[in-house]
Amino acid sequence: MTTVPPSEPLLQLALRVEQDIFLVRQRGREVATAVGLEHQDQVRVATALSEVARDLLRGVGGADVTFDVDLDVVAGRYVLRVDLSPARPLPDGRYEPESGAVARLVDMLGVVRDGDDTVVRMSRRVPANARALTPKRLAELRAELAGSAPGTALDELATQNAQLIAALDEVRSQRDELEVLNSELQETNRGVMALYNQLTEELEETNRGVVALYAELDEKSAQLRAASESKSRFLANVSHELRAPVTAIIGLSRLLADTASDPLTAEQARQVGLVRDSASDLLALVNELLDLAKAESGRIEPNWTEVDLRALFGQLRGTLRALATKPDVELVVEEPEFPATVRSDEVLLAQVLRNLLHNGLKFTERGEVRLRAERRDGGWSLSVTDTGVGVPAELHERIFEEFYQVPGTTRVGGTGLGLPYARRLVTLLGGTLELASEPGRGSTFTILLPGEGA
Ligand code: ADP
Repeated sequence: MTTVPPSEPLLQLALRVEQDIFLVRQRGREVATAVGLEHQDQVRVATALSEVARDLLRGVGGADVTFDVDLDVVAGRYVLRVDLSPARPLPDGRYEPESGAVARLVDMLGVVRDGDDTVVRMSRRVPANARALTPKRLAELRAELAGSAPGTALDELATQNAQLIAALDEVRSQRDELEVLNSELQETNRGVMALYNQLTEELEETNRGVVALYAELDEKSAQLRAASESKSRFLANVSHELRAPVTAIIGLSRLLADTASDPLTAEQARQVGLVRDSASDLLALVNELLDLAKAESGRIEPNWTEVDLRALFGQLRGTLRALATKPDVELVVEEPEFPATVRSDEVLLAQVLRNLLHNGLKFTERGEVRLRAERRDGGWSLSVTDTGVGVPAELHERIFEEFYQVPGTTRVGGTGLGLPYARRLVTLLGGTLELASEPGRGSTFTILLPGEGA
């Protein structure tokens, strides 16, 4: 902090007798007013001064009081400074106000060295919006303060009283404000509680709804499960019951056509042939239905072994050659790379692959049907690719539904049960069966079998 170049202080007073305390207080307030402190600050400075003055009068027999203004160049602010040089040295060179609260009334209160002497100094910042305290203005203030005659102790008492009343008023209005605030707060609290209660109720209501919904959902799934079980049971029973009579029809028609029996007319032989063919189709359907019902009811237990894909592929190559009768279609069964073992059920896996290869051959007029095995993520990908008619994208899932056949493909025969059954079996074996296909370009059915620990 830099001091304004040494000039005469604003005001100087001597504090020697009890009455001077009033004087110091009164003049302190006047100086504070003159330099531009706000009303509250004027009272604060005056009060602090009178307290310190009383302490010093009692402790060290009085002081010389100097009022001045400093300019804090860094902050660009003026500071009102009051120095009280004690009449006798302060005990231990220290000063503690009697009332601890005094220090809070000003920005700074403490003992500072002034050359060889020790002074008690207090200061308070002048607000930034106060009038500039130029040297000219300070000279004016000095003249004003020198000219104004100090009032009597009684005058000061009256002023002090007025200030006290004003302070009391202030306290009362603040208390009133506080009461208003308090009641508003209570009101708000009540509002918040009401809102909270409403929200809690709504939440409980929603919860109850969700619980009810879940119960309904559970019930529906149970019904669905029951329906699915009865369907499987029905399929199993019907197909089982049908198998014996259909087998009998096939046997009887074979007997009728046998040359050892009475000879038939050509027409009769043709008709018996039709009966036998229809019965054979029916038996195939019944067998497939029975398989599917068994797979769905979970009655198929895979027989887990280490399946050698090379051996399995070799076996398929042999058995399916008989089916690959179209001159323009080649059946290619690739040789899996060595070693090619997968933990699975050999019979079920062969059944699925045979089914897919058979379909490929059925729906392909030109090109090839290819079976390939590749390692994938520690497991195996087995794919059957054909260059046949293909399946439109929107039917990729439908063809895995029971009895579904793509319109226009029915003339090649079949039941629409092969793919749903194949997918069931692959699922039982822990894998997935997916189709990628485009009409006119062919189809690829891919079985993904996860590796151990997957
Ligand atoms: P099915 O072959 O006995 O009709 P599937 O369940 O095996 O029954 O197949 C269902 C339908 O899916 C078939 O009718 C056919 O329309 C279609 N499909 C199956 N495989 C192929 C394929 N490789 N190429 C074209 N369409 C196919």
